[in-house]
Amino acid sequence: MLEKVVIIGSGPAGWSAAIYASRANLQPLLFEGTISPEMIPLGQLALTTEVENYAGFPAGNIRAFVESAVDAKRHYNLPPVPTEYVRDGQPHYAVQGVELMELMKQQAMNFGTRVVGDDIVAVDFSSRPFQLTAGSGESVTAQSVIVATGARANYLGLPSEEVYKNRGVSACAVCDGALPRFRNKPLVVVGGGDSAIEEGTYLTKFADKVYLVHRRDQLRASKIMQDRALNNEKIDIVWNHVVDEVLGNEQDGVTAVRVRSGLDDSTHELDAGGMFLAIGHTPNTDFLRGQLDMNDEGYIRWTEPFRTNTSVEGIFSAGDVSDDYYRQAITSAGTGCMAALDAERWLVEEHGA
Ligand code: NAP
Repeated sequence: MLEKVVIIGSGPAGWSAAIYASRANLQPLLFEGTISPEMIPLGQLALTTEVENYAGFPAGNIRAFVESAVDAKRHYNLPPVPTEYVRDGQPHYAVQGVELMELMKQQAMNFGTRVVGDDIVAVDFSSRPFQLTAGSGESVTAQSVIVATGARANYLGLPSEEVYKNRGVSACAVCDGALPRFRNKPLVVVGGGDSAIEEGTYLTKFADKVYLVHRRDQLRASKIMQDRALNNEKIDIVWNHVVDEVLGNEQDGVTAVRVRSGLDDSTHELDAGGMFLAIGHTPNTDFLRGQLDMNDEGYIRWTEPFRTNTSVEGIFSAGDVSDDYYRQAITSAGTGCMAALDAERWLVEEHGA
């Protein structure tokens, strides 16, 4: 069967594209991916707790709404309700990443999106219709494709970092920094690029001190960002050090970070209620190498301003797989919508439908 549009990816970009494409009667087929060390169905939001900055979701009794909207068969997938935030005896918290994604998925399915629990592992975009191969070996033929496979934050790879993910270790200050666990405590940011400084500066709104742990004696960040860090008295740069271990306990999560000097191998501990990684992201585009124009880091290039067109006509991309700058759930959702509209208009021009 020839598909009108295949969507690859199940984060905010993928689901938003699916909502728009299905409402445009394109009957999209969405591959939501499988769990792997790098990726996870529902995208990076599935790895986070509360999402306080997605417009339209102020804190409240979110679970009552989620359970009323999402098919009961998928309730098992929902994370526990945070019990620490209660108002008038009812849960009162900001939507959790998985809840938000399950809501988007439900919305897309309500309008007829077909969801496949598999990866796309290979593509041939060299001629039309396009050919895609799923992890199962199944082949899919499509008139148009929206790539929304996102990016993954880079982590250091320490076992202790893994232990405290979501309990003080985060790779997104803008997403998590304002959570109560990080307020009025010293925090560690790892990295020396623009993101590290941006995240460190942002965290000074909540933290009483931010240690910027950088492995060299020079920042990679732009001059203006360097000045911002050097002039912020709440930021203390720990030069020539790498993280040796994240320390903490079951009850409090992260309590300190042990760092190691690159000069003499000595170690010391920094008291910290959290550790934020800002050591870059990796776009999920390995399976697309040679098929689409990408930048040096592997992000798919948009070829026209304010359009989601890629270097191959009929292939569109949305979300973090093309955006190494904003990287927010809401901007991903926005470009997912754009990709569906771009695909719909292109299909009308090319195929009259
Ligand atoms: P980046 O520029 O690649 O910087 C990554 C930083 O992490 C570098 O300082 C690097 O150290 C360090 N690092 C990498 N791997 C590490 C490891 N395993 N252990 C310890 N440290 C490690 O990435 P980014 O800061 O995310 O920026 C990405 C792009 O977005 C850049 O083009 C940046 O200019 C742009 N951006 C701009 C803004 C802004 O203008 N407001 C804000 C954010 C991002 P080394 O320096 O030693 O390599």
